[in-house]
Amino acid sequence: MITEQTCIDLHCHSTASDGALSPSDVVARALNNGVDVLAITDHDTIGGLAAAQQFNQQQPQPLQLVTGVEISTRWHACDIHIVGLAFDCEHPPLLAFLAQQRQLRELRAQEIGQRLEKAGIDGAYQGAKLLAGDAALSRGHYARYLVETGVVDDISKVFKRYLARGKTGYVPNTWGDMQTAIAAIHAAGGIAVLAHPSGYQLKGKWLKKLVREFKDAGGDAMEVVLGQQSPDDLVQLAQLANLNGLMASVGSDFHFPGRWLDLGKNLRRPKGLNWVWQTEQWTVE
Ligand code: AMP
Ligand code: MN
Ligand code: MN
Ligand code: MN
Repeated sequence: MITEQTCIDLHCHSTASDGALSPSDVVARALNNGVDVLAITDHDTIGGLAAAQQFNQQQPQPLQLVTGVEISTRWHACDIHIVGLAFDCEHPPLLAFLAQQRQLRELRAQEIGQRLEKAGIDGAYQGAKLLAGDAALSRGHYARYLVETGVVDDISKVFKRYLARGKTGYVPNTWGDMQTAIAAIHAAGGIAVLAHPSGYQLKGKWLKKLVREFKDAGGDAMEVVLGQQSPDDLVQLAQLANLNGLMASVGSDFHFPGRWLDLGKNLRRPKGLNWVWQTEQWTVE
């Protein structure tokens, strides 16, 4: 049973996308951090879920593992991320949809490499690919590669200089719309959650418009409690969720061990919200 004390983290990454820890290491770290309910939400892939589940089941006290994915979409030329939770991960149309997303990722990654080459940075595609291994290529891999090779000294600077929208290495986004991603999640029995709404650098009016249009497109919930956010941000997101009749979710968006953010940390939940785990669609393996 989930109570106020239950530690819940419904957004994080593994090496199946741009996270640094393998799926089983993510579960091990979550257990160590006292997480009770976890969703691994890799970018456009569920490739890490089977290994995570297997490892979890071998533990003396497994946590509750919820199926998860973070789908990339396009809204007014912005990259908007939609987290899918508690869906059937063997649903063929969802698998076909994710295979398509992977293809888009590969094409985009090649183009990013070409753009960086024109900007005088050679070999970035091969470098990022090597870091990614079997994972679908992400800007996160490019960022790590450019830091590891000393082109730029930290990840956020790489984005500011090369990979953020409008910068030299940015490829205008070709993802599908929110409605299509939400429908794919719903068809597989899942819950569609607008990820980190305050992370898109949208000014007040545009953020409200995004949340409203996400709801109109069939969305069920939005992330309200994030690993790193100001008290004002938390209040604003909670209000937006209630105003638009959306359930609330909780996620650290953990990618790698660092100073400021960790699995299950800084995710205290305020009162007065309808949480995603309080709906009938919520199922845990
Ligand atoms: P992609 O899904 O390939 O477009 O890459 C998006 C990923 O890049 C995000 O999930 C983050 O991991 C990372 N990212 C995006 N913007 C930034 C930023 N400003 N600083 C650090 N990482 C970022
Ligand atoms: Mn990422
Ligand atoms: Mn995201
Ligand atoms: Mn994420």
